[in-house]
Amino acid sequence: MRASPISPTVDFSAEGVQHGFLRLPYSRDDSAWGSVMIPVSVVKNGEGPTALLTGGNHGDEYEGPIALFDLARSLKVEEITGRVIIVPAMNYPAFLAGTRTSPIDKGNMNRSFPGAPNGTVTQKIADYFQRMLLPLADIVLDFHSGGRTLDFLPFCAAHILPDKAQEAKAFELVHAFGAPWSMKMLEIDAVGMYDTAAEEMGKIFITTELGGGGTATAKSAGIAKRGVTNLLKSAGILNGAAQTGQTVWLDMPDGNCFSFAEDGGLIEPLVDLGDTVKTGDAVARIYPVGRTGIAPQEIRAKMDGILAARHFPGLVKPGDCVSVVAAVVPA
Ligand code: CA
Repeated sequence: MRASPISPTVDFSAEGVQHGFLRLPYSRDDSAWGSVMIPVSVVKNGEGPTALLTGGNHGDEYEGPIALFDLARSLKVEEITGRVIIVPAMNYPAFLAGTRTSPIDKGNMNRSFPGAPNGTVTQKIADYFQRMLLPLADIVLDFHSGGRTLDFLPFCAAHILPDKAQEAKAFELVHAFGAPWSMKMLEIDAVGMYDTAAEEMGKIFITTELGGGGTATAKSAGIAKRGVTNLLKSAGILNGAAQTGQTVWLDMPDGNCFSFAEDGGLIEPLVDLGDTVKTGDAVARIYPVGRTGIAPQEIRAKMDGILAARHFPGLVKPGDCVSVVAAVVPA
């Protein structure tokens, strides 16, 4: 396969702290020989495991970028053993635009793997992670939040995997991350995801959903910052012991956890994030807004559990994910 068009301005094998860019040539109207300059930091000290840390896979999710811009400026080489590679905003054009997908090609980074070196801008970035960065990593943390259209309980997550040893190591790191909730996560559509690419390569992959609505809170940013530090400590890369508190384990056992809108309209939440629901309980109403006098559609829970995610904006469209219910795993 042809070489990636991306050239890093850092040397991933060099010792010390480096701040630079993944430079991707992008010729366009306002810059004939221009480039997309994706910020990257690498901190390396001797032999040890490599952690690859990413945020901004979706451009409207902020806890990851906050935690990783902060970590990149503060991580000191003498504090670590091994290597930390930090890309705070993976889909950088999407991050700059404040949108889930790239304004250049509408590319959804998390549906673009394995990518292509001769594809669109988003596919070229995915290809670089697939063939250059993931192979360097032992553990991979990719931060997500709900973005502008979803809102989540703050949780760290990993997937049920065919390789049970790999799965156990991932859940161990989820526990170490120390978010208030920890999720055994089911994907609606795992094809093309960065998660799947990393897991198929045998990497220990964990992710998060830490709030949403297209913004961050002091609390959610704090969870992200503490979590990434805990992860690096637990992996033996960062000196010191992880400050892991209590976490509640949640499970998404099957597709019954998701509810989707069949009609558009005005959404009335009937339960809030973290509230307990039983099978058949109405979790939201959707009012048709074309005229008055029409009964709302009720969205009902299809399993027992707690509300783990909700649609965020006040208006909903047909097909939107309205709610996610997760089962509480007994302690
Ligand atoms: Ca996301």
